[in-house]
Amino acid sequence: MPAMFFSVAGSVKKLTSRTPKGVPDCFEISHSGQTALVRVKRMKGTQRYTLRVNAAVREAVLTMPSRGTKAAALEFATKHAAWICARLKRLPLAVPFVPGSVLPLRGLPHILSHRPESRGRAWTEASEEQTTPILSICVAGDLPHFRRRVADYLKREAELDLSAAVQKYCDMIGVSGRKITLRDTRSRWGSCSHDGRLNFSWRLILSPDYVLDYLAAHEVAHLIHMDHSEKFWELTHQLCPNTDRAETWLKFHGSDLYRYGETSAETKFE
Ligand SMILES: [Zn+2]
Repeated sequence: MPAMFFSVAGSVKKLTSRTPKGVPDCFEISHSGQTALVRVKRMKGTQRYTLRVNAAVREAVLTMPSRGTKAAALEFATKHAAWICARLKRLPLAVPFVPGSVLPLRGLPHILSHRPESRGRAWTEASEEQTTPILSICVAGDLPHFRRRVADYLKREAELDLSAAVQKYCDMIGVSGRKITLRDTRSRWGSCSHDGRLNFSWRLILSPDYVLDYLAAHEVAHLIHMDHSEKFWELTHQLCPNTDRAETWLKFHGSDLYRYGETSAETKFE
């Protein structure tokens, strides 16, 4: 799992109260002209107030004791307002699926190009302009369908690449091929269930190909070792020599993949 969260923890006086009512789901804080929304989550068993910035959804999340008070939550968030605002400001800008946006398909920048007159759905093109190759993802059809078609295209490409990589690694360890499921997961890039089903984030198609390939090796290795033991890592390295390189990439650039497309529930992928 990549480092997607930056957090600060601390305690405030008067941590608990017998009347936990009246704490809103979220509130606004501000710091030198910048305002930020803070989502509040109550958690049983914690005595601490914790703040983190979730890069995936670009919001601050305050975790508090289930019996904490609104005043204490607000005080804690206000105290760290500068930290929250600085972290949010530092997040790279969101890139919507609109004509002209640039997406790193398999790690290579591609311009989204609208081709309303063309047939088909979406495809890639490479054109040479002043000796620099320009890569495009071309999308046919009317503009209202543009966003959905880009999303469908990326998901389809992710499925093709991941299925092939999973098959390759299944062959290497001598297990039968697996069907994969794509999700828009926020906390991890892939997972392997106890009954051997493999799930991946479709966003991996926006990472360099060795990163997607590594994730396939990682999850296939879980078919043999269901943990992150030494033996598991030994097998992963054996299958995929790019393991460390890919882990490093995900650590530094992984959260960046959430910039692309809408992050609201509207663009959920099943
Ligand atoms: Zn794992």
